[in-house]
Amino acid sequence: MSLVVKNITKRFSDFAALNDVSFEAQPGEFLALLGPSGSGKTTLLRLLAGLDRPDTGSIDFDGLDYLTLSARDRRVGMVFQSYALFRHMTVAQNIAFGLNVRPAKERPSKAEIQATVQRLLKLIQLEDLGKRYPSQLSGGQRQRVALARALAINPRILLLDEPFGALDALVRKDLRRWLRRIHDETGVTTLFVTHDQEEALDLADRVVVLKDGQIEQIGEPLELYRHPQSAFVFDFLGTSNQVPASLSEGVADFGGFSAPVVSPRSLRGAQTVRFRPFDTHLHREGPGFEAKVLSLLPAGANLRLELQSATGQVFETQHAHDSEASDLRLNDTVFLRPSKVYAF
Ligand code: ADP
Ligand code: MG
Repeated sequence: MSLVVKNITKRFSDFAALNDVSFEAQPGEFLALLGPSGSGKTTLLRLLAGLDRPDTGSIDFDGLDYLTLSARDRRVGMVFQSYALFRHMTVAQNIAFGLNVRPAKERPSKAEIQATVQRLLKLIQLEDLGKRYPSQLSGGQRQRVALARALAINPRILLLDEPFGALDALVRKDLRRWLRRIHDETGVTTLFVTHDQEEALDLADRVVVLKDGQIEQIGEPLELYRHPQSAFVFDFLGTSNQVPASLSEGVADFGGFSAPVVSPRSLRGAQTVRFRPFDTHLHREGPGFEAKVLSLLPAGANLRLELQSATGQVFETQHAHDSEASDLRLNDTVFLRPSKVYAF
């Protein structure tokens, strides 16, 4: 086991930003910490980095009691959303910073530092830009330099706090792939904080979902997506349509039509059930939830629809281009039936 976080609580006055948080990371694992703004993600990273102390609980890394170690002795690499590069230093000097500030007896030789910087410049694919200043780089390039600087100290853990948050969507996606590759090459245990569920599901070996300072669920991306344990996780991981139903024996009855309940089968009676956009069928005739086509949007291999019922409820659905949805027009009336629903 590399990182073991146990029963961590952190209060600011009488407000618990983290409440009894426990999880573990395997050596070399890539964990995403996913949660809405204010759920405690940054607070948790700061505790791991030694920038702040928890009120209760323990943090161990490979048998080392991290809470007794200084921030420096923890050997943690950090990258933040805002480019915290030193503006008056070149790219190469920024990367070398963590090594240059070591006390003389721990500091590598000049030649060794230079070799490390060259190796990292190559890793982040900015080999020829070592002499530039941060202001002469694009946002994406600066974040790559910030990552190289964090890696220079040969960290035990890499902590990334919404590192791509300030970048535009295309660059983000590019850097995501690239970060995953760097991770696989270096093998460093990584905690990646994000509020973007797609980023978390796409990047991580496992995802830790935080809500109000507590862990809602931990799991591999597919496991989490297929078996959300709470309405919060279901709603947070993707588009969620919600309708009232009457449940019995694993079937949701909508009055005239029904759908199987994925889980749990034991729920009974009047409940709100949820379904995903792609778990819907559209029909020209009832039964079904009657709605009008509000918008039609091609989304890659799919067609995305917004439908509005007479009561004003908006459903989002998704279909293949050559499906029942392909000859629909704006304002057409359709009847929507979920093919499966989730209840919590
Ligand atoms: P996230 O990174 O998930 O958006 P944070 O960890 O920054 O959330 O914050 C979690 C909660 O703790 C928020 O409600 C925030 O206002 C509060 N908080 C964070 N740091 C402090 C602080 N130094 N003093 C008081 N409250 C804080
Ligand atoms: Mg934060």
